[in-house]
Amino acid sequence: MSVELKPQRKRRPAWHKLTVDRVRALTDDAVEVTLDVPEALRETFAFKPGQHLTFQRVEPDGSEVRRSYSLASSPRELADLGELRLGIKSIPEGSFSGYANRRLQPGDVLEVLPPLGNFCTDIRPDRHYGSIVAGSGITPIMSITAAALDAGATVTLLYSNRTEDSTMYAAELRELQAEHGDRLRLHHIRTRCEGAEPLLTGRLSPDRLRRIFEELVDPGEIDEWFLCGPYELILGVKEVLEETGASQIHTELYYVD
Ligand SMILES: Cc1cc2nc3c(=O)[nH]c(=O)nc-3n(C[C@H](O)[C@H](O)[C@H](O)COP(=O)(O)OP(=O)(O)OC[C@H]3O[C@@H](n4cnc5c(N)ncnc54)[C@H](O)[C@@H]3O)c2cc1C
Repeated sequence: MSVELKPQRKRRPAWHKLTVDRVRALTDDAVEVTLDVPEALRETFAFKPGQHLTFQRVEPDGSEVRRSYSLASSPRELADLGELRLGIKSIPEGSFSGYANRRLQPGDVLEVLPPLGNFCTDIRPDRHYGSIVAGSGITPIMSITAAALDAGATVTLLYSNRTEDSTMYAAELRELQAEHGDRLRLHHIRTRCEGAEPLLTGRLSPDRLRRIFEELVDPGEIDEWFLCGPYELILGVKEVLEETGASQIHTELYYVD
């Protein structure tokens, strides 16, 4: 008997409707959106820390907008509470980010694709993870950091923002530090903040990062890196990391200018 093998067709991910449970301000120009995931969809929306969701929305003029947003919450929150959290920063004139920041309300229904992306790893307790991020690039790092600390790993985080007030998830990071002590080594870099430590004040340029590696953070202690933010930042940071001999570098690009 012969068996005919048909080429397997990759199934396209399907769109689902998820309801907004909460919207809360993170800063003056960023919100956290919490989505409810019904029991029947929990497996479909299971994710690895670092992955993102894709949203689809029809604008008032009939055009269709699709945008990606990384998950800030942990897989445990999905399993225990049936919730997914996202941090969305408002971009001037931004179509989806403007809608999310100014109009989205509890009870609204969004069209969403299940989690996607390779900005993730198999988290291990014996590893030291390093992250270098700017602005809304913190979102997937919140999920990765919480999962890594929960597993018993160590995390070093360099996080660049204009000011303290514009820093997304600042309070949550303080809580993680209080809970995990020296296993979370957090360094805020402020691009506009007079009177702060000079090393950590100003643009996170390759030169500044080299000095940080000389004076504050030993890159040789870090096993695996996660970089998230705009193109220019990722490019410069990756170059410096490669100079130090780092080989495991994950990158997630939010925007190319
Ligand atoms: C994998 C992935 C994950 C992402 N995760 C997040 C996240 O967790 N949180 C988050 O806030 N954003 C995230 N982004 C960025 C997000 O997808 C959108 O690009 C951003 O919200 C702008 O979309 P918009 O519709 O509001 O703006 P648009 O209407 O697309 O653009 C408006 C104007 O802003 C410029 N612009 C577009 N995107 C950006 C940007 N990111 N930064 C600066 N200027 C921009 C455009 O050139 C245009 O001039 C992610 C992007 C990717 C690819």
